Amino acid sequence: MNVLIVYAHPEPRSLNGALRDFAVQRLEAAGHQVQVSDLYAMGWKATLDADDHLDYQPGSQFSPSGDSRLAFANGRQSADIAQEQDKLRWADALILQFPLWWFTMPAILKGWVDRVYAYGFAYGVGEHSDSRWGNRYGEGNLAGKRAMLIVTTGGWDSHYSPRGINGPIDDLLFPIQHGILHYPGFDVLPPFLVYRTSRMDEVRFAAVSAGLGERLDNLWHTGPIPYRKQNSGDYEIPALTLRPDLSPGRSGFATHLGQG
Ligand code: FAD
Repeated sequence: MNVLIVYAHPEPRSLNGALRDFAVQRLEAAGHQVQVSDLYAMGWKATLDADDHLDYQPGSQFSPSGDSRLAFANGRQSADIAQEQDKLRWADALILQFPLWWFTMPAILKGWVDRVYAYGFAYGVGEHSDSRWGNRYGEGNLAGKRAMLIVTTGGWDSHYSPRGINGPIDDLLFPIQHGILHYPGFDVLPPFLVYRTSRMDEVRFAAVSAGLGERLDNLWHTGPIPYRKQNSGDYEIPALTLRPDLSPGRSGFATHLGQG
């Protein structure tokens, strides 16, 4: 299998760097092909702008989505964007690895998503009409692939528990796991989380890497988070609200989980 790791940490000698190296070795030892997009090492350009469209005419009004659609359709995207899309087509599984910074991914990784997820590639895919809002949330160009987050946090696991002060980790990661990964079609596996990173030593690192190794060994067998699919009949058309008979009286992120 082919695994793409998109990795966002500025320091290779960090905890994240050690976990990244461990993951690559473990996957390769199991016979998988691995590519790493090391965003800081690549000098990844994080900002989406007119330079991303090779046919952009200086002085004309730039449309972030409209120019993305044209550049993708006409093969006129910036080369770094097209290369990352090729890696995604190649991959059977995508791993996004990052330290939690201000309760989300580092800006450089968000910039990878903003730019690589072009109109026609990750969104704006499929029929758009009064009765259908495209192929998304479980369908799309990346359907059939698996995805997983590896996230480290300074905060304790209790801070991210259901009543923890930071908010539940499943809620904080919902925009990434549901909005960025499930949206273009990925099956999203439960995240691998490392809390309280300041309390790391060799003994704990051995335990953490053993846990990560187990998750990587089971990358193809672990059941995905049971997010509902947009076009499964669970949502009313055209409002795209959950049918009233499903999770009655409830709202919030967890209502978008089905039976699994
Ligand atoms: P490092 O700092 O590199 O290492 C952490 C510890 O692990 C160190 O003690 C190091 O010695 C040890 N270590 C490293 N490698 C090994 C090894 N191979 N074996 C044994 N020990 C090792 N946290 C939150 O919870 N929520 C937030 O919203 C949040 N926002 C942040 C925003 C910013 C801008 C920053 C800079 C930090 C934020 N943090 C937050 C904390 C952040 O999530 C952690 O600092 C980060 O996850 C730690 O990962 P690291 O790879 O940088 O660890």
